[in-house]
Amino acid sequence: MAAKVKKTKYIFITGGVLSSLGKGITSASLGLLLKERGLSVTIMKFDPYINVDPGTMNPYQHGEVYVTDDGAETDLDLGHYERFVQAPVTRQNSVSTGQIYFEVIQRERQGKYLGKTVQVVPHITDEIKRRMTTFDKKFDVVIIELGGTVGDIESMPFLEAARQLGLEQGRTNALFIHLTYVPFIKSAGEVKTKPTQHSVRMLMEYGIQPDILVCRCEEELEKDVKSKIALFCNVEEDAVILALDAETIYEVPMHYAKAKLDDAVVRKLHIQRTSKPTLTEWAKFVQRVKKPKTKVTIGFVGKYVQHQDAYKSILEALTHAGAMNNARVEVKYIDSEKITSPEIAAEVLSETHGIIVAPGFGSRGIEGKILAIQHVRENGIPFFGICLGMQCAVIEYARNVCDLTNANSGEFKKVKNNVIDLMPDQRGITNKGGTMRLGSYPCVLKEGTKAFESYKSQIIRERHRHRYEFNNDFREELEKGGLIISGVSPDARLVEMIELPNHPWFVGCQFHPEFKSVAVGGHPLFVSFIGAAVTHQGKSA
Ligand code: GLN
Repeated sequence: MAAKVKKTKYIFITGGVLSSLGKGITSASLGLLLKERGLSVTIMKFDPYINVDPGTMNPYQHGEVYVTDDGAETDLDLGHYERFVQAPVTRQNSVSTGQIYFEVIQRERQGKYLGKTVQVVPHITDEIKRRMTTFDKKFDVVIIELGGTVGDIESMPFLEAARQLGLEQGRTNALFIHLTYVPFIKSAGEVKTKPTQHSVRMLMEYGIQPDILVCRCEEELEKDVKSKIALFCNVEEDAVILALDAETIYEVPMHYAKAKLDDAVVRKLHIQRTSKPTLTEWAKFVQRVKKPKTKVTIGFVGKYVQHQDAYKSILEALTHAGAMNNARVEVKYIDSEKITSPEIAAEVLSETHGIIVAPGFGSRGIEGKILAIQHVRENGIPFFGICLGMQCAVIEYARNVCDLTNANSGEFKKVKNNVIDLMPDQRGITNKGGTMRLGSYPCVLKEGTKAFESYKSQIIRERHRHRYEFNNDFREELEKGGLIISGVSPDARLVEMIELPNHPWFVGCQFHPEFKSVAVGGHPLFVSFIGAAVTHQGKSA
């Protein structure tokens, strides 16, 4: 542990009034500011749902399932933590009520509670505290984001555990930040503090007095409004921090630095000898996001296009890669189910300078994806296929170039030409949760390929989440037909990347590069893809 603090400091972040105020971005931004002050930081998320993890949840409801290096399927907020703090999180950073109960019930079945009645307090809360202190002494600061909104029945045990832990750690080692909403009422022409007062009162019913209030508001807060909030909510005036709406989420750390959130945190936690973050590289990145030189349009072909949180990390990776290319990436969402003919494909893809075919599960929308891929392959439009997107590219090539009639994936249809099929290790698995090929695996790249050119490295490590893969029975035939296998597992058994020669940029990967794209610097494949889209736009302009 860095010598900045003697004891690990705990920061709890709760939310009140309503959801979607940006607790995840607040946690990530504070993490970045504290890291820039020279502290070692990790961020944990505690989610109140009973699912063990979001791996089995519909992305339509819950948003993207984010995958960590060690193969945990987690909430998308973990993605923000990694992108902002630029340090990997692990399975232990993501905790759900389901995991807590699972553990306690297993222990009960093993007779470990020695005849006691197993109860929410202390057994569930003790298990929550045990998880909350996983990183004790390993980091200077542990930020703990508590999912849900104060007042929800299901988040009560988390608040109780946080209260207890705060007391055990002592006032200068634990801090409570409450994120609330201060609405601006147009007809009255003023902001209203009552919802914040109520939400703090509710938090206090659980025995938690917030140390810092972060108030989300569309307007600047007048001094007297701040004073009122401070007085009624029993916090110091300089601990009332305004969170104004930002143009991009990446501007939020800069807003918070200006509003002195990190100053209040280090002051209250008695963290000494740290200097104000400069955010030099970050500010340059934000500037490029806000005022890029050029603009490209990327067609995003997927099935959950109405729900953008379902593809959060890809969209963020496009923003990062855009900044690296000094281009604004405008995403045109294309519902693959609507592409039912080559003509429609040509029409919906006109005016796009590159397309991404999204990851996914199940057969819905597949034929539309294949038609889109055929169009961009034949017309020299940059193509980036991710996971299912790569699998569709293989199917398209098999059908239309290698004459493998009706080629398909075993996931959709059992046929003679299953060019994509279940991985041998997956046969016989029936449980759905956490049983895919998950997490980081090495991949060896072939020199002279676009993959190699992008990464500038022979061995890479990327994260996976799939059951199906390129079927080796067809490897020779597809390679003979011109498909390049540009990345394989070190034992050469699994095809991890494909591409096409004689095409400006046609690359597919079985893994999910989007999970490793960080704000400052981006990801090599996305940066290279957007570079190709910028070139394509130059030619077509
Ligand atoms: N459904 C495919 C598989 O399981 C692709 C998964 C994905 O795109 N993440 O292999």
